[in-house]
Amino acid sequence: MTRFIFITGGVVSSLGKGLASAALASLLQTRGFKVRLRKLDPYLNVDPGTMSPYQHGEVYVTDDGAETDLDLGHYERFTGVASRRSDNVTTGRIYSNVIARERRGDYLGATVQVIPHVTDAIKEFILSDVTDEDFVLCEIGGTVGDIESLPFLEAIRQLGNELGSERTMFVHLTLLPYIPSAGELKTKPTQHSVKELLSVGIQPDMLLCRSDREIPVGERRKIALFCNVRQEAVIPALDVDSIYQVPISYHEQGLDDQVCKHFALSDAPPPDLSRWKRIVERIRFPEGEVTIAVVGKYTSLLDSYKSLGEALQHGGIANKVKVHLKWIDSQIFENEGAIHELDDCHGILVPGGFGERGVTGKIAAVRFAREHKVPYFGICFGMQMAVIEAARNLAGIRNASSSEFGACDEPVVGLMTEWLHGNKLVQRKASDDLGGTMRLGAYGCHLVPGTKVAEIYGADVISERHRHRYEVNIDYRDRLENAGMVFSGMSPDGLLPEIVERPDHPWFIGVQFHPELKSKPFDPHPLFTSFIAAAIRQSRLV
Ligand code: GLN
Repeated sequence: MTRFIFITGGVVSSLGKGLASAALASLLQTRGFKVRLRKLDPYLNVDPGTMSPYQHGEVYVTDDGAETDLDLGHYERFTGVASRRSDNVTTGRIYSNVIARERRGDYLGATVQVIPHVTDAIKEFILSDVTDEDFVLCEIGGTVGDIESLPFLEAIRQLGNELGSERTMFVHLTLLPYIPSAGELKTKPTQHSVKELLSVGIQPDMLLCRSDREIPVGERRKIALFCNVRQEAVIPALDVDSIYQVPISYHEQGLDDQVCKHFALSDAPPPDLSRWKRIVERIRFPEGEVTIAVVGKYTSLLDSYKSLGEALQHGGIANKVKVHLKWIDSQIFENEGAIHELDDCHGILVPGGFGERGVTGKIAAVRFAREHKVPYFGICFGMQMAVIEAARNLAGIRNASSSEFGACDEPVVGLMTEWLHGNKLVQRKASDDLGGTMRLGAYGCHLVPGTKVAEIYGADVISERHRHRYEVNIDYRDRLENAGMVFSGMSPDGLLPEIVERPDHPWFIGVQFHPELKSKPFDPHPLFTSFIAAAIRQSRLV
């Protein structure tokens, strides 16, 4: 029997609802339950694929090629369960499905309304693609009280009624602000937020109260009384120094015990937290440190590089070192002297990106890494930059560029209009919609035996996730190989370069895919582990 836990947020946004949901799921998992996590986003975009990283942060891509909310990255990193297309939906997608059904005539002449048609579509989504999971946790994006979230709240209210409390639970995340002049944590915003939930017919079963300090018993009692929640189900969610401490800390506050109690699962085995304790131990007591420069465009909003930042930390966990990240806006390198910002870095990474702004600086960073033999990791756009740099500065193709930046006579990186996905031919036109039309999701890649990547992966064939429209142009392979670049990973049909590396360099790898999306704290991605190990060697040289 699958049980559904609905997580809503109140008072303010950015309280870490995604993390809290992921941490709760991982706790249930350590008790032996099978879990799945879902995110319901109230905005009108069909998916976050076309949104600017400044608006939305990272777009997380699943194996099955969905462009989703970055919270799905937390879900995967905390549980190891691969997210699917069916784990994220938006108001935009729900409405476009409802409207398509209306046009087909599926509603048999009915007046199509938010209740029941939109709410039915939301319920259908929540209940779909569920097999033998013990728990499905559904996070509702936004904050209670937003106009957009109303249909979602109404849908989960209905489900609570239809499935009963033995199969549903409502968890509400709130904030207890500390007011220095009063010397007190304030419970009123939480009371108001619960009132807001009650006004749409939802009585929370549990409150998760974010606070920067211990919550006195008196305050917990007060919240319980005013919000009609048992006192033990008012769970303090205190700030912690590492996100991977969150499951441990929530367990200590009784989170999973109370969930088991709600579902009458009191005889469930206690959680085995050893995995999380080991990770936190490694983070707290590193044996060394390295500094990695991340040279990108969206460095003023680090959520844009959420999985990347985490994957680099995982590389640190694997090597028992602390990884300091130096985020650098590539545009500063348009001023030549600024390149010395890289002098104290033990590794340089150019991440994924779009558009021409900042390209000159990224290419300058690649050149610096290549010439000074500093470990270089190019991801997606960062691989394309490495190829353009080699073409221009080593292969003598002065006008080498990407057709992403406009028409060019030497498209070393070019628009891909046709490619194979398994045995299926996928075709695109330059004039196609921008939404959902990139090369997306998991693709196989054949590694060339004897190369560095073959050694790092310890495999011949790998699968990684993609999100890009342009590809390194195979027609330039010979000239680039003559310039010292080895094409060490190729698509199964041998047409799309997936990985390049430089054997004349201690660690220089560019990958067309996004390995950061698959890294987990308890299973760091081999490329990140190897990159950080190379950075440690570099730190001993400088
Ligand atoms: N802009 C490049 C492309 O579309 C790279 C994309 C990326 O880095 N994710 O191919």
